[in-house]
Amino acid sequence: MANFQHTIEFIRDFYKSADFIPLHEPRFRGKEKEYLIDTIDSTFVSSVGAYVDRFEQMMQSITQTNKAVAVVNGTAALQVALRLAGVKQGEEVITQALTFIATANAIAYNGAHPIFLDVDLDTMGLSPKAMEDFLDSFGEVREDGCYNKSTGKRIAACLPMHTFGFPVHLDELIAVCQKWNIPMVEDAAESLGSTYKGKPTGSFGQLGIFSFNGNKTVTCGGGGAIVTNDLAIGEKGKYLTTTAKKTHPYEFFHDELGYNFRMPNVNAALACAQLEQLEGFLTAKRKQAIEYAGFFGKEGIKFRTELEHTEANYWLMSLEMGDKMERDAFLELTNSQKVMTRPIWQLMFRLPMYVNCQRDDQKNAIYLEERIVNIPSSVI
Ligand SMILES: *Cc1c(COP(=O)(O)O)cnc(C)c1O
Repeated sequence: MANFQHTIEFIRDFYKSADFIPLHEPRFRGKEKEYLIDTIDSTFVSSVGAYVDRFEQMMQSITQTNKAVAVVNGTAALQVALRLAGVKQGEEVITQALTFIATANAIAYNGAHPIFLDVDLDTMGLSPKAMEDFLDSFGEVREDGCYNKSTGKRIAACLPMHTFGFPVHLDELIAVCQKWNIPMVEDAAESLGSTYKGKPTGSFGQLGIFSFNGNKTVTCGGGGAIVTNDLAIGEKGKYLTTTAKKTHPYEFFHDELGYNFRMPNVNAALACAQLEQLEGFLTAKRKQAIEYAGFFGKEGIKFRTELEHTEANYWLMSLEMGDKMERDAFLELTNSQKVMTRPIWQLMFRLPMYVNCQRDDQKNAIYLEERIVNIPSSVI
């Protein structure tokens, strides 16, 4: 077993801190205060305002998409993105079990059922091979999409998640989705700024979503965004997340079940100031990843790095331990010495709400569940 005391010393040295070191804390070193004061002075702190528009413009430009919709958080973004992709009550959505709870919950909020398929060991995200294998056994393409022969239900979408900012094998996944006529929605909540063959994650699917929660690379307290290249879908997204109200000078007429999922202007102000610093955050994180990689290489501990043809945003840096016992020892020692670390999520099918969902053998997901830990990853 490696000497984890060295790791603790290295991290303390890196952050030049003898106190508690969190996993990921925000940095407000741009125009945050200026923009916040501006929203207060303008009185437009709530659901309409110039910063919301500006945030949407910035997100379109950063993700190279045609339409971005600001929403209240990433989970809400996912819920609506799935509905926009055509997911309906009683249908099914293919996703990975190795993810944060929001991915699975957003499927359930639409009254749909997750199908949990395995991840790849190298990306830690949904495996094109696992999806192809599943569909070879259970898929049937009909006029209105792909059906699951074992349940008779339509597989309405595929929802891969770019774990910790490492892009999934997008070309291969898109090929499988096209072959089986299944729309793809990207859970890019963790991967703002990550690219695959030079293109931003979130821009590959019919829709993509991002989160601006307090622990993400860029935060606005709480917030989310839906992005798409399909203008009509994007406009519909804006409509649905702002209560589905028909434009009228004074009448209230809502012609669909919409949501109040708007991002307040005060949060958007924070988001704009943060997005202005995205490049700087990405550079700082990349530099840290290189330093970590050098250190852990010498220690004989596996530090997870980006794959060829991809750029990860290195949101949360991760280590792969030899086995679960080593993982537990690492978590125990680091946390007891106030250097925050944590394991990757428990697989979704272990949670009471999702125990009965259809799934494959989850060989890789279980392997990673027992070994992956996150270490402090805040920008210095
Ligand atoms: C953070 C996150 C979300 C969305 O989270 P919110 O806290 O609702 O903004 C969704 N999916 C994944 C994988 C996430 O990490």
